[in-house]
Amino acid sequence: MNSAVNTLLKEQCVEWQQCGENYAALETVEVRNTQIEGYSFKVQFNPKRIQSSAAKVDPKSIKERKCFLCEANRPAVQRGIPFAAKSGNAYTILVNPFPIFKKHLTIPAVDHIDQRIDGKIADMLELAGCLTDYLIFYNGPKCGASAPDHFHFQAGNKGFLPIEMDIEAILSSQAKQVAPDVYVLNNAAAHTIVCKSASINTIICWFNQFYSKFRQITNSEEEPMLNLLAWVNNGHYHLVVYPRKTHRPSQFFAEGDANILISPASIDLGGIFITPLEKDFSKLTETDIKDILQQITVTPDVFNKLIQ
Ligand SMILES: [Zn+2]
Repeated sequence: MNSAVNTLLKEQCVEWQQCGENYAALETVEVRNTQIEGYSFKVQFNPKRIQSSAAKVDPKSIKERKCFLCEANRPAVQRGIPFAAKSGNAYTILVNPFPIFKKHLTIPAVDHIDQRIDGKIADMLELAGCLTDYLIFYNGPKCGASAPDHFHFQAGNKGFLPIEMDIEAILSSQAKQVAPDVYVLNNAAAHTIVCKSASINTIICWFNQFYSKFRQITNSEEEPMLNLLAWVNNGHYHLVVYPRKTHRPSQFFAEGDANILISPASIDLGGIFITPLEKDFSKLTETDIKDILQQITVTPDVFNKLIQ
C-alpha cells in the first residue's frame, strides 16, 4: 500500500498542475522550532492553507457549497486508490493538494456521510497498519475538519510531526502510565492521552470506552470534541487522543494586532502550528501557543474525570 500511494503522489504532482505547484512550494516554506514545557513544537508559515484555516464550517455555509470530497465534485484530474476496510466501509485514498507534510493524503469515505468517529476507529487503525510510512489523523466535526459533512481521515508521512518522532522518549520519561497500555502526558501544554498496544482490538476497546465516558462527562449530544492521531511502529499501534472544549481560540476572532489566523487541529496539537499569514508566523510566541492549547483542550477538571 505504501508504494502504491507514493507512486500516486508522484504521478499526481506531474499530471495535476496546482497539486505539483503546491508540493513544490512546500519545499521552501519557513519552519521554526520551539519548545513548550519540554515538548517540541514547530511553527510553519504555509500560505496555501488559508482556505482550510479560514474555512466556514457553520451548517449554512456547508449547505451552500458543493462538497469537495464527493467524487462527483472532485477535479477530474484527481485520482484515488480504493481502500475497503474490514468493517465494510469504503474509502478512497487521495493526494491532498494543500499539503502540510511532504506526503499528505486525504482519505474520504466513498459515501457522503457526516464526520463522526463512532464505529470507525477500527478503520483508522487498519489504515495505520496498511500505511506504515504514514500517521493517520482525524479531526472532529467541530475540531478543525473543513468538511464536517463528509467523513474523512488524513495522513502525513512519518518523521515530521513532533509527537510521533518523540513518542518513545515521551512515554519513557514525561508520561505517566494510568492503566495497562494507557499513558497521560505529564505537564503537557495540551492534555493528551496515548494508548499503545500490539493488539488493535485492545486499542479499539479502550477507545470505545473512553468515547462513551467522554460523551457522558461533557453531556455531548453528538460527538464529544476530539482530535486523533494513529500510527504503527515496531508492531505497536499508537493512538493519541486530544480531548477538546473549543473549536477556535479567542485570537482567531480578535481584531487588529491581537488577531492570529489559526484554526488548530490534530497537526497543531501534535506539534506543528500552521500559520497561513506571515504576520502570524513572525509574531506567534511560546506564550501564545501555550495559551491557545489551553483554550482549546479540556479543563484540568474534565481531564481528571476522564483519567479516573
Ligand atoms: Zn461529500
